[in-house]
Amino acid sequence: MARYTEATCRLCRREGMKLFLKGDRCYTDKCAFARRAYAPGQHGQSRKKVSNYGLQLREKQKAKRIYGVLEKQFRTYYEKADKQRGITGENLLRLLEMRLDNVAYKFGYGASRTEARQLVTHGHFLVNGSKVDIPSYQVSINDVVSICDKSKATEKFKIFAENPKTLPSWLTANPENFEGTVIAEPSRQDIDAPINETLIVELYSK
Ligand code: SF4
Repeated sequence: MARYTEATCRLCRREGMKLFLKGDRCYTDKCAFARRAYAPGQHGQSRKKVSNYGLQLREKQKAKRIYGVLEKQFRTYYEKADKQRGITGENLLRLLEMRLDNVAYKFGYGASRTEARQLVTHGHFLVNGSKVDIPSYQVSINDVVSICDKSKATEKFKIFAENPKTLPSWLTANPENFEGTVIAEPSRQDIDAPINETLIVELYSK
């Protein structure tokens, strides 16, 4: 599987904002964006006028980077969103938000989506009692996401359970049982990722 192997913090610097890709480090003064809030590379500090196309492209890149999705898969999400009823941009964000790695992150398993994704691929999660180790797995309403018995006993998962996150309204959790349920599809208001999805739709509809 293709994957991004360059320095992660370059992505935040390129997008001109913190994307919180590295978990706890993002909240410390070691954050590369906090120290160098300009684009990476030789011309990173030069001022450039950004075209409309440039704005649309950056918004798409930002969304891909926040959710850890590569180009081809992101395009597939867009095509799927475009075929669905409703507003394409919102459909796109909903599809991204309902990936299992994102849901695991929202439940508090992992300090970043990257860590949550790794936990999924390592086979710690069950969906409705069956093991699922595919980060892009799309959860549905009433799906119960839980942790397999072996992992529940580990220190790492005990710490996650003891520090539950504030959940969005479309999820409920029972941290003592290492279990959470998808009770609805996320609405646009539930999605806090700083993405202007209209620009992405404009880019792909050219
Ligand atoms: Fe981005 Fe986190 Fe790196 Fe800061 S530490 S630049 S927020 S990934």
